Amino acid sequence: MLLEDERAALCAIGRRCAEAGLVTGASGNLSIRVGDLVAVTPGGMMLDRMEPADCPVVTMDGRLAEGERAPSSETPMHLALYEATPERAVVHTHSTYGAVVATTMTELPPIHYNTLLLGGVVRVADYATYGTPELAENVRAAMEGGKRAALMANHGGVALGRDLDEAFENARLLEWLCGVYVRAKAIGEPRVLTEAELLAVLERGLAPPEWPPV
Ligand SMILES: [Zn+2]
Repeated sequence: MLLEDERAALCAIGRRCAEAGLVTGASGNLSIRVGDLVAVTPGGMMLDRMEPADCPVVTMDGRLAEGERAPSSETPMHLALYEATPERAVVHTHSTYGAVVATTMTELPPIHYNTLLLGGVVRVADYATYGTPELAENVRAAMEGGKRAALMANHGGVALGRDLDEAFENARLLEWLCGVYVRAKAIGEPRVLTEAELLAVLERGLAPPEWPPV
């Protein structure tokens, strides 16, 4: 079986996404890239009920290389992100606070220094119908400049990583940051960190991991 370990990892991280409340029902999708092949979650399946054989493998130009099930409808978005970045895993969720921010704002302001781990301000990609090339392009544009996460207007969030564990942690961080912002907004106006304050954090060494690894 092609990418057997990676397909098993999709199932393991899919369960963790469900346990962490980042997805409901059959929403959300994950993928991992190895060379010119991408293992992706299937369309229409609960992320915590998948077996490795349920996860199809596609080529970078979107052709099915192996698998019985159809790839997730958002596969074009995953492939567009792999074309545009050196990242090796994508986690797309419909997490609650991410969806709240993505429904009301055009970006998540830097209200906590850990936002730097995602590349600073998180942009909200313009709305487009799910599964379309237009949505894939909008998310790719929102990731420009080395971002490791984006929100999708009236939809959810996307996080990138060098592997699935890292993409999952970035997805959790994105949801946590959105949760802090929304709750802070409920009791006052959140204070946004200044450029100088963020720069001071970078100077202390907090930064996204280097890519490619040395
Ligand atoms: Zn979605």
